[in-house]
Amino acid sequence: MMTPPPPSTPVSPLLLLLLFVLVSSSSASLYDTFLQCLLNHTQVLQQQQQQWQQEPSQILHAPTNSSFPTLLGSLIRNRRFGTASTPKPLLILTPSQPSHVQSAVLCARRTGTEVRIRSGGHDFEGTSYVSRAPFLILDMFNFRLVSLVNEEFPELGLKKEDCAEMSWIESALWWGDFDSGVAVKALLDRMPKSVNFLKRKSDYVQQPMSREELELLWDKMIELGKVGFVFNPYGGKMGEIPMSDAPFPHRAGNLFKIQYSISWSEDGIEAEQSYLAKIRELYNFMTPYVSKKPRRAFLNYRDLDIGITDNGENSYKEGTVYGVKYFAENFKRLVKVKTAVDPQNFFKNEQSIPVLPRSSSAMTQYSGSTETTGKMTVLVIFFLFLKDLMTIFS
Ligand SMILES: Cc1cc2nc3c(=O)[nH]c(=O)nc-3n(C[C@H](O)[C@H](O)[C@H](O)COP(=O)(O)OP(=O)(O)OC[C@H]3O[C@@H](n4cnc5c(N)ncnc54)[C@H](O)[C@@H]3O)c2cc1C
Repeated sequence: MMTPPPPSTPVSPLLLLLLFVLVSSSSASLYDTFLQCLLNHTQVLQQQQQQWQQEPSQILHAPTNSSFPTLLGSLIRNRRFGTASTPKPLLILTPSQPSHVQSAVLCARRTGTEVRIRSGGHDFEGTSYVSRAPFLILDMFNFRLVSLVNEEFPELGLKKEDCAEMSWIESALWWGDFDSGVAVKALLDRMPKSVNFLKRKSDYVQQPMSREELELLWDKMIELGKVGFVFNPYGGKMGEIPMSDAPFPHRAGNLFKIQYSISWSEDGIEAEQSYLAKIRELYNFMTPYVSKKPRRAFLNYRDLDIGITDNGENSYKEGTVYGVKYFAENFKRLVKVKTAVDPQNFFKNEQSIPVLPRSSSAMTQYSGSTETTGKMTVLVIFFLFLKDLMTIFS
C-alpha cells in the first residue's frame, strides 16, 4: 500500500501571514500575465468569428478578489481539504462557454501552471481543488445541468406502503436530508448546510459471507465504534452490461459493493489520525472476504490509500496499481486514449490516468499549441462525459 499524504498540520499565525504575502504577490503577477494571455487569445478567437460574450476579467479570480473565498469554499465538501494549511489555488477560472475553457487551458500551459478541474467538488480526496504544485482551479460549475428523471420502477415488487415513490432527483433531496416538499432547485444551492471531515473507502464482494463471518464483522465494528458500512447490491441489469461497454468495469460476478465511511467534526491531527486508523483497520479486516488480484475499488469513492502517482517517470507503473483497481481491463484502453489525447500529461492529479512510458508509446506526439489545446478541450469534455457515465451506472 502506498503511504498516504501526511495529515493537515496547524501552522503559526506568523508563518500564515508570510505565506499569504508570498502567495498574494505571486498570484498578483500571475493574474496579470494570465489576464493578458486571455485577452490575446480572445482577439485570436474573434478573428476566427468566435465570441467570448464576457470580459476575460469576469471569469478570472485572484485571491485578492472579494469573491475568491466564497468561490473556493462553496464547493469544498470535505473539511479535511478546507483547513488553513490546505494548499490554495493561485487563481480560479469560471468559464461559461467552451472557448473560455480552451483559452484557460492554453494560458495555463503558457504560464506553466497546473490545472485542477472542478465540477461539483465532491471528490472525497479533494483532487479537484487541491494540489501540492502551484495550481489554478478551472471551475466548471457553469456547465452543470440538472435533468429531471421521473421514471417508475414497478419491477421492484414492493408494496406501496413500504416505499416513498419519487423521481431520482427527488431521492437526491431525500438523501441530502432536505425537508419534504423542498423544490429540486434547492440542489443548485452551492452552500452546504454543514461540512464534516470525511474519509471513504470501497470494496467489491464476490463470494457470499457466511453467518459466522458476518458475526465476526459485527464484533469488529462494535470494537471500532465509529466506522459505517453501506452495501449496494449488484447483479440484475448491472451484471448484463459487458465490462467493456463503459470505463466503469464492475459488472457480472460482483454480489455487492461496500462503502466504508467515517465522518467527524473535531478539528486537529489527532482526531484525523485516530479516525483514519479506524477505517483502515476495518478495511484490512475485510481483506479475506472481498475481491482479490486486484482488490477492486469504486472511483467515485476516491481513496488515495490504494495508490498514488507523483506524475514523474514512474507514473505508468504507479498508475497501474490504482488504475486496475478502479477500471480493471478497461484501464489499458484509458491509457491508450490518454496517450493519444494528452501525451504530455497536462491534465493530472494523484490518481489520474497515466500515459504509456515513452519507450512503449508509438502514439503521435502532438505539436502546435492550437491543435494541442483543441485536443485538450476534447479531453476535458470526454472526462466530464466519463464522470457522468460513472455516476449513472453506479
Ligand atoms: C457528501 C458526498 C456524498 C456522495 N455521495 C455519493 C453517492 O451517493 N454515490 C456515489 O456514487 N458517489 C457519491 N459521492 C462521490 C461523488 O459522486 C464523486 O466523487 C464524483 O466524482 C463527484 O463529482 P463532482 O463533479 O462533484 O466532483 P469534483 O470534485 O468536481 O470532480 C471529481 C474528479 O473529476 C475531475 N473533473 C471534474 N470535472 C471535470 C471535467 N470537466 N473534466 C475532467 N475532469 C473533471 C476532478 O478534477 C476530480 O478529479 C459523494 C461525495 C460526497 C462528498
